[in-house]
Amino acid sequence: MSPDFIPLHPPHCVVGVIGGGQLGRMLALAARRMGVRTCIWTGGLEAPAVEVADEIIDLPFDDPAALEKFCRTTTVATVEFENIPRETLEKVAGCIPLHPSPQAISICQNREREKEFLRANGIPHTWFAVIASEADLAAAMLELNGPGVLKTAAFGYDGKGQLKLSGTENPAAVWAAFDADRAVLEAWVPFEKELSVMAARGADGRTVTYDPAENRHRHHILDVSIVPARVSPAVSLEAAAIARRVAEALDYRGILGVEFFLKSDGTLLVNEIAPRPHNSGHHTLDACATSQFEQQLRAVLGLPPGSTRLLSPVAMLNLLGDFWPAETTPPDWLPLFTDGEAYLHLYGKRHARGRRKMGHANFLGHDAIHRAESLKSRWLTAAENPED
Ligand code: AMP
Repeated sequence: MSPDFIPLHPPHCVVGVIGGGQLGRMLALAARRMGVRTCIWTGGLEAPAVEVADEIIDLPFDDPAALEKFCRTTTVATVEFENIPRETLEKVAGCIPLHPSPQAISICQNREREKEFLRANGIPHTWFAVIASEADLAAAMLELNGPGVLKTAAFGYDGKGQLKLSGTENPAAVWAAFDADRAVLEAWVPFEKELSVMAARGADGRTVTYDPAENRHRHHILDVSIVPARVSPAVSLEAAAIARRVAEALDYRGILGVEFFLKSDGTLLVNEIAPRPHNSGHHTLDACATSQFEQQLRAVLGLPPGSTRLLSPVAMLNLLGDFWPAETTPPDWLPLFTDGEAYLHLYGKRHARGRRKMGHANFLGHDAIHRAESLKSRWLTAAENPED
């Protein structure tokens, strides 16, 4: 047992979660099951986690009273999204243990630091150049000499803050129109598949990894994850080994997601690291011995990791806002329940605006992806033709 093991029972143990989105909600639900209390600090944003948390601090991340209350209420803290001001993270870590560390979060919350970290640690990644001016972009485009993608260094996710470049554009015009002070230019990768690996590293440095997920996106947002990924055992092992190296190099504690591009020659390149539970790990709720959320709690509480064994092939389907016929009218869930091996997870969001992540569904069994795809087209068709 780790020396900093925290007794699970109240009043000793309240896990503080910075961020109140769906990841915080599922973390709080996992904590409930274990009899662990949670305190959710929402940052003042709309927060699906508040419905299931034991304590709520509904104030911005720079509010001194919120910080004081968070540190007083909680035993140990974690994050459920990475875009939290570094200052807040440092202040929390100055009062109570925070896992993962502010250093690890800070690397993953910024593409420039993340790429530099990958390069410095010899972890395979896409070619990139740091861009802070029109001249940088011109030089980088010349060197790249081909298609690329310009990404903001900070606050980018789900394809936001990204611009695909063919390589023939005028760098001055591109940089003038791009809304960022710092960015990275990445080579465009003609990948065969996108994969991700969830890894959990405990207090004692032991790392466990889950089977890689094969991820397909729709409008730059995760659409489905298929587990096990349809790749060779060698690729699977290599992806897990790289994820482990990332966790070790970050001296990480907790769960993290590593996203990869798989090229047709079998090469794996790390695209992104998420210092938290990840959308492509949601299948673990129904298809693995230990969910990614319980794994996070175990790591944060100084408990040994649980088994990552896959109990069934699974397809996770993201339920985005465009599945909803109207903002407050959900899809017809009956076919999902009729399936018998499909499990619905909704995040309690009242309004289905645009392509918000409203929930997900896990389909178990060998033909899971076909059942998921078939329901997806049925729901999308119904949403596009609400009068039918
Ligand atoms: P990101 O926000 O970096 O995860 O990018 C969102 C999605 O855009 C990725 O999942 C890919 O599908 C695509 N993408 C991002 N960067 C590249 C790249 N360098 N080459 C090819 N596709 C990319």
